[in-house]
Amino acid sequence: MKFEDYNFSEEVKMSIGKLGFKKPTDIQYKTIPHILKGEDVLAIAQTGTGKTAAFAIPIIEKLHTIKKQQSRKDGIKAIIMVPTRELAIQINEVFVELAGNTRVRSFSVFGGVEQDPQIQKLEKGIDILIATPGRMFDLVSQGFIKLNRINTLVLDEADHMLNLGFIKDIRDLIKHLPQKRQTLFFSATIDQEIKKLAYSLVTNPIRIQISPKDPVSKNVDHALVNVEMDDKRFFLERLVKGSPDSKFIVFTRTKVRADRVVKAMERVEIHAESIHSDREQTDRNSIMDRFKKGETKLLIATDISSRGIDIPNVDYVINYDMPEQSENYVHRVGRTGRGRERGQAFSFCSSQEKPLLNEIEELIGKKIPIVEMDRDGYKEIVVQSNETHSDWKSLMRDMEEEEISYKKRKRKKK
Ligand code: ADP
Ligand code: MG
Repeated sequence: MKFEDYNFSEEVKMSIGKLGFKKPTDIQYKTIPHILKGEDVLAIAQTGTGKTAAFAIPIIEKLHTIKKQQSRKDGIKAIIMVPTRELAIQINEVFVELAGNTRVRSFSVFGGVEQDPQIQKLEKGIDILIATPGRMFDLVSQGFIKLNRINTLVLDEADHMLNLGFIKDIRDLIKHLPQKRQTLFFSATIDQEIKKLAYSLVTNPIRIQISPKDPVSKNVDHALVNVEMDDKRFFLERLVKGSPDSKFIVFTRTKVRADRVVKAMERVEIHAESIHSDREQTDRNSIMDRFKKGETKLLIATDISSRGIDIPNVDYVINYDMPEQSENYVHRVGRTGRGRERGQAFSFCSSQEKPLLNEIEELIGKKIPIVEMDRDGYKEIVVQSNETHSDWKSLMRDMEEEEISYKKRKRKKK
């Protein structure tokens, strides 16, 4: 079936066409009719399969139909909750494009920027709000977001949202929503426990799960490189220099390590930028923009960027450090191979990270293929690095110091 053949309004169809979407993806095909009917839906489908439009199209279509019949009534009718600021911006962009020919208005609110401009926009009246939890709950408690007309609540990256420690807040929020409402959960991963939690928030949800056996996107080839901690930068250097025109997202375990990798790359004349929660939001936005445009080809990120981010033409995802939460493996490698594109992911696994690897392989139900390398091949990558010997030593010292402080922090947490 093509989008043309759907019983949508011309206004929405035109926008879908403008985005270049001809046929719905599997998850869109299966969820859109239920969402239009007003049912609760739990939808699980691999990364990059168009989950955003799967909820955005029917939400806009429904609001558009109502608005055509009635004069404009104030109040937010749908809330989309997302885990990160970048995701709030990105999802709002999709809503803005899809609603471009209608009078349906969407807007995003998130922390790290001033509240006042957001309040002004909210007071003008919007229909759909895309929000990160912190700022949203702030604005609700100050009375700037009114909940009494909301009939659709979406949790994107639902497992993460329910896991973030926001479950109590979300339950409170639901108490204040009208009785008759629709709740939608979308994600690429979900475990039994979180599923139960999701079910406890709704009645009789429709469950739609696509390719549940292997959560890793079928468009991503992923492989493992056995490399020791101190050698990881040489392997990254080799990969980047081997594909100078490619776009890379590299994930590290900590913010400090992300910044260190940027420095290590600078030493060998590779330009990179890091993005993480210690950076100002305005910087985060411009870093993302530059990466999107391809002005920066190497983005070093923490797990804050592992979920949902949709940037075209990312050729490689590198797990510079193995993810500590196994589901993040699926999300990180899912930053490549989006839509119809194909992508490649490499994970650098040191001997001390083997337990993390085991957890990941258990989650995805298979072994990650290993890039075979003999000792000479390994050595060659290290020796051929452009890094000079004196730099090595200071870098090693940096790395060691950071390792110690990380272990200390971890002990404190316990
Ligand atoms: P997910 O949330 O499932 O990870 P997104 O909603 O971010 O995926 O969509 C991934 C990419 O697929 C986006 O770039 C989007 O524009 C594209 N896309 C979505 N739906 C379609 C479609 N029906 N046809 C072609 N491309 C699509
Ligand atoms: Mg998504």
